[in-house]
Amino acid sequence: MNEQVRDWVRAARHIAVLTGAGMSAESGVPTFRDAQTGLWAKFDPHQLATENAFRANPSMVWDWYAFRREMIAKVDSNAGHRALADFARRHPGRMTLITQNVDGLHQRAGSPGVLGLHGNISQDKWLDTPHACCNADAAVPGSPPHCGVCGNMLRPDVVWFGEALPLQTLTLAENAASSCDLMLVVGTSGVVYPAAGLARMAAGKVVVVNPHPSDLDDAADAVLSGTAAQLLPQLLED
Ligand SMILES: [Zn+2]
Repeated sequence: MNEQVRDWVRAARHIAVLTGAGMSAESGVPTFRDAQTGLWAKFDPHQLATENAFRANPSMVWDWYAFRREMIAKVDSNAGHRALADFARRHPGRMTLITQNVDGLHQRAGSPGVLGLHGNISQDKWLDTPHACCNADAAVPGSPPHCGVCGNMLRPDVVWFGEALPLQTLTLAENAASSCDLMLVVGTSGVVYPAAGLARMAAGKVVVVNPHPSDLDDAADAVLSGTAAQLLPQLLED
């Protein structure tokens, strides 16, 4: 373990953590490609994960998400998720956790206040702006569940292709990045924005944790080669 980076962790008053798909690799979270098995093999995820696809065929898209939710429900958080949650518990208010992942594993590990840039696949939201009649708890069950009064449908609370990121979440993430002493960039290729932009606007030191070279290595003060589950427990212990 890099002692200098451990010193940075100990000294930082505010740590921003940005995680991507590699964070969950050791949990065995199925990727889009893995989810294309059996019944779903003939569908292109890029054509299912859009608002247009949902409006055109809500039950098919809902069922595909139900299938993915089942797959994700079977996996567990890993040692990396737990190290982040434990750190936040020991040091309230010192860490802001930002993730591109929709798998909800940071939340399941117990991390508070997770900023999910791409939403959370285990949660729903209304497709259209809800009216007073739209009560998710009383939605008519179905595929998808819907409001029994106006017909508004529930959809997965994830950012679909072509959609903007949730503005408030993005603003909070940018504030955390631009005010942190240290940013840990974990398991992200650095190709996808705004993740890459958050790392580049970090006020403090930037440490990349990734088993492979990433596009953010040039912006990093240190690059630790390894996975989240391998490196975070040691990096974050007191
Ligand atoms: Zn309604």
